[in-house]
Amino acid sequence: MGFEKVIEEARESVRKIIPPGIDITDIDFEGPIVVIYTKNMDEFAKNNDLVRQLAQGLRRRVSIRPDPSLLASHEEAEAKIRKIIPAEAQITNIYFEQDTGEVTIEALSPGLVIGKQGSVLNEIKKEIGWAPKVSRAPPIPSKTVTEIRNYLRYIDEDRKAFLRKVGRRLARPRSTEETWLRLTSLGGYREVGRSATLITTRESKILVDCGVSVSNDNGGSTPYFNAPELLPMDSIDAVVITQAHLDHCGLVPALFKYGYDGPVYCTPPTRDLMSLLQLDYIKVSFGEGKKSPYDSGNIRDVVTHCIPLKYSETTDISPDVRLTFHNAGHILGSAICHFHVGDGLYNVALSGDIKFEKSWLFNAAVNKFPRLETLVIESTYGGFHDMQPSRQEAGQELKDIAGRTLSRNGKVIIPVFAVGRSQEVMLVIEELMRTNAIPKAPVYLDGMIWEATAIHTAYPEYLNSQLRTQVFQTGQNPFLSDIFKRVDSPDMRERICHDPEPCMVLATSGMMNGGPVMEYFKEWADNPLNSLIFVGFQAEGTMGRKIQKGWNELMMNDHGKQINISVKMSIETVDGFSGHSDRRQLMNFIATLDPKPERIVVNHGEEHKCLDLAGSVYKKFGIETRAPMNLETIRLK
Ligand SMILES: [Zn+2]
Repeated sequence: MGFEKVIEEARESVRKIIPPGIDITDIDFEGPIVVIYTKNMDEFAKNNDLVRQLAQGLRRRVSIRPDPSLLASHEEAEAKIRKIIPAEAQITNIYFEQDTGEVTIEALSPGLVIGKQGSVLNEIKKEIGWAPKVSRAPPIPSKTVTEIRNYLRYIDEDRKAFLRKVGRRLARPRSTEETWLRLTSLGGYREVGRSATLITTRESKILVDCGVSVSNDNGGSTPYFNAPELLPMDSIDAVVITQAHLDHCGLVPALFKYGYDGPVYCTPPTRDLMSLLQLDYIKVSFGEGKKSPYDSGNIRDVVTHCIPLKYSETTDISPDVRLTFHNAGHILGSAICHFHVGDGLYNVALSGDIKFEKSWLFNAAVNKFPRLETLVIESTYGGFHDMQPSRQEAGQELKDIAGRTLSRNGKVIIPVFAVGRSQEVMLVIEELMRTNAIPKAPVYLDGMIWEATAIHTAYPEYLNSQLRTQVFQTGQNPFLSDIFKRVDSPDMRERICHDPEPCMVLATSGMMNGGPVMEYFKEWADNPLNSLIFVGFQAEGTMGRKIQKGWNELMMNDHGKQINISVKMSIETVDGFSGHSDRRQLMNFIATLDPKPERIVVNHGEEHKCLDLAGSVYKKFGIETRAPMNLETIRLK
């Protein structure tokens, strides 16, 4: 059955469902969505059930859009919007999405844009034809979010063509032969880093994650791209990304360099954070004189090919696979991917990195699914002894150390990853200083922390509800507290380094493998009044690990020359801030899983942790478990 036939069939189904008075002007496939253009948007607005019936009849997601002839030009529409909306609403941005016929109005007081019972919005809609959406202006502007939005507007036509191509590929006819399902481990099994898993069915190939091991330079840093299952690159139907950390997405741009041209599915915040971290990755590689595996053009390719999906939004990603993302609780936008294969044939979920505890930033990971036969689960802290203190205990310990140090006029350095830990630590410090639990002092943020925080405030719906409310209550947004100072130039860093006053510094890199944190450390290490606090995992071989182990004489590169650093500052470690579940939380996640799967595959952990967790799960729950090595294939069905 050719594509024309598929479109014809869709037209036929639409005709059957839509009452005769409604004028349908065109039907198209855009990525996973069937788009229906009409001159009677009002009829659809009046009858919500119509869209549901269409989605059911077409067995796809449906988007109803106004016929382009009904839409006012951008200039005309913008002028009218500004005339209708009262000035007190304080519009900060207006952007049009040509491919959806929607206009987003961003304002400081969104209530005034909506009007009483939507009166203002209704008037706008009547005047300009575009469907108005309202969003609250993010409290901290993000350069990344703005640039990506501008870029997407600029490539509007290319993107439309791309979405049509994906739509056509998705609508290709399915074979009627016996079907099966396999999972191939291409990286991140019995190790942490370079995560990559291939899911293959009779019909399609899905690559989940494509990471890089950043602490590993001698081979072994990329997934097994040359595995025969994966090649050629253009045989892959979809790439799915669980989260923005580089061990999960660091090599996605390289796929485009080597011939992949299909869609990348991830949540909207993952798309933005991933671009930020990938750009930093090539910058850091360049700075270290290493060849980067791709350039910024390939990072743009990823954005162009990205199809963002929110949590709980189910979507076809190949003729026989449907994907749904669920909150994973690890970092902003991190997702558990649930795949429904065939028509009720099989269900498999990949946990990615999960936190099964409510944190200061996010809700606990989801572990309820409509159906589930196999679960793939991480085991970073899956060893028998991998217990971590609770969030509360961690906060208490941070309070003690920071309080002690600031009271004796010392300085505190906290090395952090830009995304995840730094925002948690910021929230804890803000509360401690606001409630006078520790002395008030400036908290300097150096590295990409500010920008990563801005992206967090652009996606409040991904934060836990308590924080979401705080972020939007004027004067209460903890990220905007005046204790936080953004370090935006080398001069400012230099001044802070030599300032005698007590202060705290949150700076990258998290494992002290370079980055601005080193400048503060070199300057302050020899003073016993100061403290260095580790809040994240320090991998073997990193500078952070050496310092944590108590090395007190260190040779370091200082702008080209070797210098000797003697460490007299107090070295502390506060556990409990991790974005990973500890052993107890992993076991709880499985104990309360609904439904119980028939098989559990363990990955993303050092070899003995994978084996330890797999063994314990089998013993405790009687579920078949596997801890495959890289390059193994398991037949699931
Ligand atoms: Zn990871």
